[in-house]
Amino acid sequence: VKERGKNNFQLFTSEMHQEFYRKMMIEKQLRTALDNEEFELYYQPIMDLKTNEIVGMESLIRWNNETLGQVTPDEFISIAEETGMIIPIGHWVLNTALEQNTRWKKEGYKSLKVNINVSVRQLLDPTFFEKVKNAIENTALDVTYIVLEITESIAMYGEAMIEKLDALKELGISLSMDDFGTGYSSLSYLNKYPLDSLKIDKSFVIGMNRDDGNKAIVKTIIAIAKELDLKVIAEGVEGQEEYHFLDGIGCDYAQGYYFSRPLPAIDFKEKWLTAGD
Ligand code: C2E
Ligand code: CA
Ligand code: CA
Ligand code: CA
Repeated sequence: VKERGKNNFQLFTSEMHQEFYRKMMIEKQLRTALDNEEFELYYQPIMDLKTNEIVGMESLIRWNNETLGQVTPDEFISIAEETGMIIPIGHWVLNTALEQNTRWKKEGYKSLKVNINVSVRQLLDPTFFEKVKNAIENTALDVTYIVLEITESIAMYGEAMIEKLDALKELGISLSMDDFGTGYSSLSYLNKYPLDSLKIDKSFVIGMNRDDGNKAIVKTIIAIAKELDLKVIAEGVEGQEEYHFLDGIGCDYAQGYYFSRPLPAIDFKEKWLTAGD
């Protein structure tokens, strides 16, 4: 028993060491990743459940590093937030998503909404408003097609955050509350923030057809959203059952592997864009 205890301890420390080392490597490689053009934006369609047509896309970052290989955003975004690298990376995401959609518009494709993830660290950057304003001025897109996805963690920043969001709204863009239901904040902010929609987190949606508790949560979120005049997007729709259930309870939009995985721009264009406008 003693022997095993000792081995477990060694395993534990070596795992901790590995984790620390990987985090350090990610931090180091992140510093040069933008200059080396290691990031790519993928796009995942957002579907209107009433018409069964695509209405928009979410842009999702991908990182391919020579030393580390593919690093998932769940692994590196939090590190980028800690180090502040999220500021230039987020700026790149904003410009790349808008430039890509401007190109598609010029090529004659029908305009779609483009959802861009924004971390709270970016919102707190005093120059963020200016960056968004400039990006909008440089794009040929109708501003009403630009959607910023923010998270419940903004609730910690009180009145100052409301003012920032109000100013962004004045530019004409839309705001969506991401990962809804996973935060620990009170619901009262829903009224205070100038939101257009909320996204039900995929943790409630995946496998919901086999989980009455999650079904009840999703129904309740949709009811609250309707009361407050907000549109609802369900993410993580993987199967037909979830899709039908969501359609039946009045969910507006859906996103998930059932329709499509996130795709590189070139594949997204081929599979999802149609002539129009
Ligand atoms: P998120 O904003 O909640 O994005 C949805 C995540 O769910 C994406 O993971 C997407 O690929 C995944 N997903 C979509 N449909 C399904 C499905 O049917 N089943 C399952 N299991 N998953 C699905 P991804 O791309 O790995 O991104 C993870 C998180 O990283 C995002 O979660 C977001 O918080 C963050 N992130 C991604 N791109 C950016 C970015 O450009 N900026 C910032 N600040 N964060 C980003
Ligand atoms: Ca339908
Ligand atoms: Ca999102
Ligand atoms: Ca989510």
